[in-house]
Order: sequence, then C-alpha cells, then structure tokens
Amino acid sequence: MIARPVETDLLLYSCPSGHAYFIRHAHCPECRLELAESRQPSTAVIVSQTTVRVNPAGPPFRLGVAKVESGAKTLCVIDETVPDGDLVSVTLERRGDLYHALKRPAG
Ligand SMILES: [Zn+2]
Repeated sequence: MIARPVETDLLLYSCPSGHAYFIRHAHCPECRLELAESRQPSTAVIVSQTTVRVNPAGPPFRLGVAKVESGAKTLCVIDETVPDGDLVSVTLERRGDLYHALKRPAG
C-alpha cells in the first residue's frame, strides 16, 4: 500500500495587509496591493453548511463554507466523520479542484 502524502498546509494568496484568498487575483480585492503565494495552516472552521440531497452522481453529501485563520473562505465538501454543529473545527485537504473538510485528529 502506498501512503498518500499528508498535506499539512494550504496554498493561498495574500497581500502585505494580511488579506488572504484561495483564488489568485491580479491584485487584492480589498486594498489593491500585490498578492503573493502564501502557505497557511490547514486548520479551519465550518461557518455555514447544508446537505445536498439531490446528487445525480451519488448519495447526499454536506457542502459547507470553511474559514481559515487568516479569514480566507472556500467551499468544501464536509466529510461524514465531521460532527454537525456550529463553528466545527476541521482540517482542510485539497483533492483535485475541491477542498474537503476532515475531522481533526484528537489531541
Ligand atoms: Zn489586501
């Protein structure tokens, strides 16, 4: 079995003022300064979520908005192991074009 590499951080784009985004922009939408690649921790909280019950490709799943410490937000698929609730802390992992919110390891 080949172990999958563990992604311990996320690639975001941030400006000198501290605004951060998951999507690259030509300039910061907030302050117009240049954005640069920035590695940030993969810890996030789920700030909003819903259940997609009609899924032509398979069973229902939870879709949410995750916010990282720097304030950047992204859509994510919420893993079934993540408890339901407000502001649940998760680990974000990028799989292809999608971010997945996974249950944080205990400890
Ligand atoms: Zn900015």
